[in-house]
Amino acid sequence: MLTSTLLLAALSWAATRAQPDIETELGALLSDKAMVIAPSSPHFGESTERYLRSNSLEYAVVVVVDTEDDVSQAVQGGLATMHGGMNIWLWNLSRIEIALDGQHAYVGAALCQCVGVAGSSIGGGVGVFMGSYCLGPDQIVSARVVLANGTAVTASPEPHADLLWALKGAGHNFGIVTELQLRVFDNTGKTDWSSALLVFTQDKLEALFRQLNAQLPRQPSHLSFDVLIVRDPSADAENSIILVRLFSNVFSVTTLEDLKGPRISFGI
Ligand SMILES: Cc1cc2nc3c(=O)[nH]c(=O)nc-3n(C[C@H](O)[C@H](O)[C@H](O)COP(=O)(O)OP(=O)(O)OC[C@H]3O[C@@H](n4cnc5c(N)ncnc54)[C@H](O)[C@@H]3O)c2cc1C
Repeated sequence: MLTSTLLLAALSWAATRAQPDIETELGALLSDKAMVIAPSSPHFGESTERYLRSNSLEYAVVVVVDTEDDVSQAVQGGLATMHGGMNIWLWNLSRIEIALDGQHAYVGAALCQCVGVAGSSIGGGVGVFMGSYCLGPDQIVSARVVLANGTAVTASPEPHADLLWALKGAGHNFGIVTELQLRVFDNTGKTDWSSALLVFTQDKLEALFRQLNAQLPRQPSHLSFDVLIVRDPSADAENSIILVRLFSNVFSVTTLEDLKGPRISFGI
């Protein structure tokens, strides 16, 4: 009983002590253009806004970093001691530099208005070129990563090969990526883009996937597709519906008939 009372007292002391100090203590350790935004700031709301409001999170503080060292300081000076979450805003790390060999680019963690290039590359990277070039994580050559103890390392085939392997697909769990070295490819100059959206009712699910799987061995690499299973009561009040989104940058798809040609068939 006494032990748990002491523990509670220690925890509540830590809570009251850590929170008010973070703005000044951490702020003093950051570079000139970095910022700590507290909940009392008029900018707090906009700095915690998410693309999907349903995914909103509660943050105790926002740290707008400007350098990799700011990320280290935020991890060491704040994240480890505070209660509630810290939003580390990486937008100022946006940058892109094409390597002289033209085969790689060094890309800052943010660099995109919507999702971050690091966020999507280490946890998704599904895109319309995946038939030709594979997924986003497959393009990662190396990564700068700030680890949980604040140390910044380069994960590459040598050193930290295990970290590089882990980042490719489960990267959100191993540290904060500040920069990626990515393979890049020449734009072939093709402008003949096509996309099509096919909608199926739920009872077609198994037949659709049988067909998609059978299609794979002869699917042209320029054609990519993804499948979404969504709820849309205006289309089906009872069940989910299935959306198949097709993209190609080689041939034009203007009608469903085009998809039933010798190259690809969705005759369900
Ligand atoms: C509008 C929209 C379109 C999308 N389109 C596609 C698509 O075409 N293809 C596809 O594959 N995915 C797509 N996604 C999914 C997207 O790739 C993932 O949700 C991705 O994790 C979002 O990255 P983010 O930078 O917004 O990260 P957040 O949503 O802010 O964070 C997601 C997770 O990643 C972690 N994280 C973010 N940045 C870093 C970093 N630098 N280092 C380490 N961890 C980090 C966060 O801590 C959190 O755990 C889309 C998402 C949205 C909202």
